[in-house]
Amino acid sequence: MANIKKTIIVLIRQDLRLHDHPALYHASKEGKVLPLYIHDESLSESGAAKKWWLHRNLTHFQESLEAIGGCLLFDSGELKDVLPKWIEKTGASAVFWNRVYEPGTFERDRKLADDLSSEGIDVKTFEGTLLLPPWKITKSDGSPYKVYTSYYKSLRKEEISKPVPKVNSLSAPDIDEKGLLLKDLHLLPEITWYKTMENIWEPGEEAAIKRLKRFSKEVQKYDEGRDYPAAGIHSTLSPYLAIGAISVRSVFHHFTEQIEKQTEPFIKQLIWRDFSYSVLLHFPQSPQEPLHEKFKAFEWEDNDSHWQSWIKGKTGYPIVDAGMRELWATGFMHNRVRMITASFLTKHLLIPWQKGAAWFLDTLIDADIANNSMGWQWVAGSGFDSSPYFRIFNPTLQSGKFDEDGHYIRMWVPELKNMPDKYIHSPSTAPEHVLEEAGVKLGKDYPYLIVDHKAARKRALDRFEEIK
Ligand SMILES: Cc1cc2nc3c(=O)[nH]c(=O)nc-3n(C[C@H](O)[C@H](O)[C@H](O)COP(=O)(O)OP(=O)(O)OC[C@H]3O[C@@H](n4cnc5c(N)ncnc54)[C@H](O)[C@@H]3O)c2cc1C
Repeated sequence: MANIKKTIIVLIRQDLRLHDHPALYHASKEGKVLPLYIHDESLSESGAAKKWWLHRNLTHFQESLEAIGGCLLFDSGELKDVLPKWIEKTGASAVFWNRVYEPGTFERDRKLADDLSSEGIDVKTFEGTLLLPPWKITKSDGSPYKVYTSYYKSLRKEEISKPVPKVNSLSAPDIDEKGLLLKDLHLLPEITWYKTMENIWEPGEEAAIKRLKRFSKEVQKYDEGRDYPAAGIHSTLSPYLAIGAISVRSVFHHFTEQIEKQTEPFIKQLIWRDFSYSVLLHFPQSPQEPLHEKFKAFEWEDNDSHWQSWIKGKTGYPIVDAGMRELWATGFMHNRVRMITASFLTKHLLIPWQKGAAWFLDTLIDADIANNSMGWQWVAGSGFDSSPYFRIFNPTLQSGKFDEDGHYIRMWVPELKNMPDKYIHSPSTAPEHVLEEAGVKLGKDYPYLIVDHKAARKRALDRFEEIK
């Protein structure tokens, strides 16, 4: 029986959903609930695209909470200053939250929990972000796994808790304090560059569940199809996982229990997310520093003209350009193309992976500090269990293999849409009459190659020799 006098503040962070929300669920059973979202700009690792996505999802989540009798209050500033004010104003005797694990936040929250507990506030924290807390899977000697396959095998032996039931009703405390308006958190940019994204991405947990169900029909093709950017055989759940509109546990249980098809390749990919957080927890420097020490001495280049060509999708390599333009237009990029574009930046252009990672964090709506650092270090060769440095993707061969008919390229690089299949991956090798027939003038309609593959490959390998 709920104690109707007790007011519980639930801190809302990466968990904008009613289903499988342990903090909200347990609070709803114990008293009146005040969900509170505190934006701390100084800690925000997210860039412009993710903030836009967050704003849309917060709007949606506020409506969902109101529809079940609750509310969502907003405030901004440092948690340690803002939360005590709310405890005082509302007379709350408890604070619940689902743990988050970005560098800085986890330690901050732990200290806050100690401080509040010592003042007699009932603090309860829950796992709502990952399949298992990131410290749970370690080697038998307690040290963290650095090899993914071993981590995956170990995690698969564990019981993953079932999602908690959806919260269907809330009782809100009667308070005068209204907090800030969502718009006062300034998550939206002043210039409305996000119109295209608005047409593509539907916010909220219903939209996430719709995507989950749609992907359920494709999941048996995932192992074969996931590397082909034009095929669409991947879940596109990452933007929803990044802000917690869907819980990773419910995705896991949906595919391991409800669908009797071959789902393990997908589950294996999903578990990379937990692995990334485990690496981040044990090596919190990984968003900035190479995990392999020797890479600290690597001599990077900083050619601004190359950088501009990469971010604008004007490198002369169609698959790279298609990926970078997809990212700019949609806030998303297919995984295989993330690998190709990141490899091109770090190996063909020798631009530091940290600079590319920062660009991705600013432009991806699924920007996730753990997955992003893991992805970039993997591609650059400086991470644990990485692609070896000497394995340098040939963008033209990758393109021919994974976008054979050039469908993906034609979608994002429309000036090449009339190029014949034979030359769509490398217009720079097309005879003059082919270019003319396709209406492409190199250097005018589409750029010349900014670097030659063979020469760039040799330069990268020579540079690597220096630190080997
Ligand atoms: C350079 C680089 C940067 C990346 N940056 C991010 C990022 O900021 N945010 C992000 O969520 N992912 C990132 N990834 C991982 C991966 O590209 C995306 O998770 C995936 O493309 C999202 O699409 P999806 O949801 O359709 O994935 P699916 O293929 O359907 O996979 C389902 C889920 O599994 C997880 N997952 C899949 N692949 C990976 C992976 N390689 N590493 C970690 N988790 C994975 C994701 O949560 C994903 O949503 C990056 C990869 C690279 C190579």
